[in-house]
Amino acid sequence: MKHTFDAIIVGSGGSGLYAALEVSARAKTAVLSKVYPVRSHTGAAQGGISAALGNVEEDDPRWHAFDTVKGGDYLVDQQAALLMADEAVQAVYDLENRGLPFNRTSDGRIDQRRFGGHTRNFGEAPVRRACYAADRTGHMILQTLYQQCIKNGVHFYDEYQVLDLVLKGNRCAGVVALQLSTGDIHLLESKSVLFATGGFGRMFKITSNAYANTGDGPAICARRGIPLQDMEFFQFHPTGIKGLGILISEAVRGEGGVLKNNRNERFMARFAPTLLDLAPRDMVSRAILTEIRAGAGIRGDRKIDDYVHLDATHLGRETLQSKLPDITDFCKTYLGIDPAENPIPVLPTAHYGMGGIPTDTHGRVVVDNKGTLIHGLYAVGECACVSVHGANRLGTNSLLDLVVFGRRAGRHMAEYVAGEEAETIPDDAADFAREQIARLTEKKEGLHGGHIMDDMRTTMMENIGIYRNATDMTRAVKEMTELREKYQMVRTQDRGRSFNTDLLELIELGNLLDLSLITAVSALNRQESRGAHSREDYPDRDDSIWLKHTLAYLDMNEVRLAYKDVDTSIWTPKPRQY
Ligand SMILES: Cc1cc2nc3c(=O)[nH]c(=O)nc-3n(C[C@H](O)[C@H](O)[C@H](O)COP(=O)(O)OP(=O)(O)OC[C@H]3O[C@@H](n4cnc5c(N)ncnc54)[C@H](O)[C@@H]3O)c2cc1C
Repeated sequence: MKHTFDAIIVGSGGSGLYAALEVSARAKTAVLSKVYPVRSHTGAAQGGISAALGNVEEDDPRWHAFDTVKGGDYLVDQQAALLMADEAVQAVYDLENRGLPFNRTSDGRIDQRRFGGHTRNFGEAPVRRACYAADRTGHMILQTLYQQCIKNGVHFYDEYQVLDLVLKGNRCAGVVALQLSTGDIHLLESKSVLFATGGFGRMFKITSNAYANTGDGPAICARRGIPLQDMEFFQFHPTGIKGLGILISEAVRGEGGVLKNNRNERFMARFAPTLLDLAPRDMVSRAILTEIRAGAGIRGDRKIDDYVHLDATHLGRETLQSKLPDITDFCKTYLGIDPAENPIPVLPTAHYGMGGIPTDTHGRVVVDNKGTLIHGLYAVGECACVSVHGANRLGTNSLLDLVVFGRRAGRHMAEYVAGEEAETIPDDAADFAREQIARLTEKKEGLHGGHIMDDMRTTMMENIGIYRNATDMTRAVKEMTELREKYQMVRTQDRGRSFNTDLLELIELGNLLDLSLITAVSALNRQESRGAHSREDYPDRDDSIWLKHTLAYLDMNEVRLAYKDVDTSIWTPKPRQY
């Protein structure tokens, strides 16, 4: 089945919906999503969205941009960060005007709270910059944008899994998708395609990410020759529920929660004397692991699954209920504790990929250091790399990235398609996807994918985690290479066409394996410590060699690496102190 549009958006999280809202005003637009739109992971975002509104304390977009650059350990492209911080203010007011129910100050303005790494006057002290709707900020953003898209007449293809991107030379011509309810393959031809497929935290064993976060967009692009940027930088959020990885938002610390070790000591005072518990996430995660390794975890047995306490008891039941109601519920449901009475057992959890499909600030995909474009191809949100998060993202800057760059990409797409002739897609464009499905379903015998998935997730967790070294990472590269070979032999147990989740999981596993290999190779290659990439064998940041972005090209079974310049045109890189 063939369909024709001017603009196709793959993914209906915050970034995809914002882009859809903009482009649909001027062009025939379709949004494809493998999950029902409002079930996208954006809906799980808790803590807030940053903007220097200055509603509660003095603030300035330049301070916000500087914090973003410093938080990203100077691997951030600085003009892009400044643009994001500048446009943040209008973006939040736009959301308010579209109906988003933010928490309010007593005089009726949008309330703001503290978050890690966000400071006043270039690092002096924490500042209240995060706008929030209790601890359901992402949920509210998603609902607001979805309603507006419906109003604009966006054509939604719900529960369609995109399998492939169709290119004609250096132009984009459309996508191939599987309709989950029927098993039918659809060809969607379009002058432009935007990937907004979200994160890929499922490559790790313990993660805050939803089951659908399997990096389909970046993997599809990588198989079509597009490089992925800075994949070695993966953020571990300091406070996942111990053993489960379910997120306890940084907003708990923003509201005054404190991390403690088995001596009841506020240990962050030793690691970040100025910002304490509100230091950037890479530093807090390392501090927690360092405490555990020193025997100061709550059990004190130095084992990697020991934990520390996040103490919010002093905030009082009323604050917890009004500002952190979902977190309070999670603690009761998953731990059987009331955070107003007991500290929460926490351990870092794999959370956010700073890397992804390289783009410029219009969301256009850029495939090398010279700025070469694939015409009509865009990416935005967590699957993309602009790069505003560098080596470590600050909390609340992802929701902001979705809204600011989603809007910019949508606008640019609308202009682009207005000046372009319609693309036609050849009928054999779906052959590759059909072969992929046949390989997975039509073998007489084959391996079960479950073990490969488990092995991948454990290997990534143990070897490409918070602390890294050459031995572990070499092991991970070898293991991923072998698992990718084994993957050639997997087959589905289920042969049905309707909602064949077995098939979907195998397709997603293939995507995660490709991204895991790229991540491991990129990490082994970078011989320094910067942001979330922390090497025991190279403990220092080395700007003389490594102040550059990695570009990784997947060439069948090999990963080829190249580099791209970092924009440091505003602030000279300095050592980070908090
Ligand atoms: C628990 C949690 C809490 C968070 N809290 C915050 C916070 O408070 N503040 C903040 O700034 N950030 C937060 N983040 C990060 C932030 O929420 C995410 O980075 C962001 O929401 C990602 O949005 P997105 O639009 O890129 O993708 P997502 O919202 O993940 O959506 C991806 C979309 O792509 C679709 N898709 C994927 N693959 C395919 C395919 N093959 N075919 C078709 N469709 C596909 C999915 O169906 C989905 O619609 C949090 C993240 C988590 C996990």
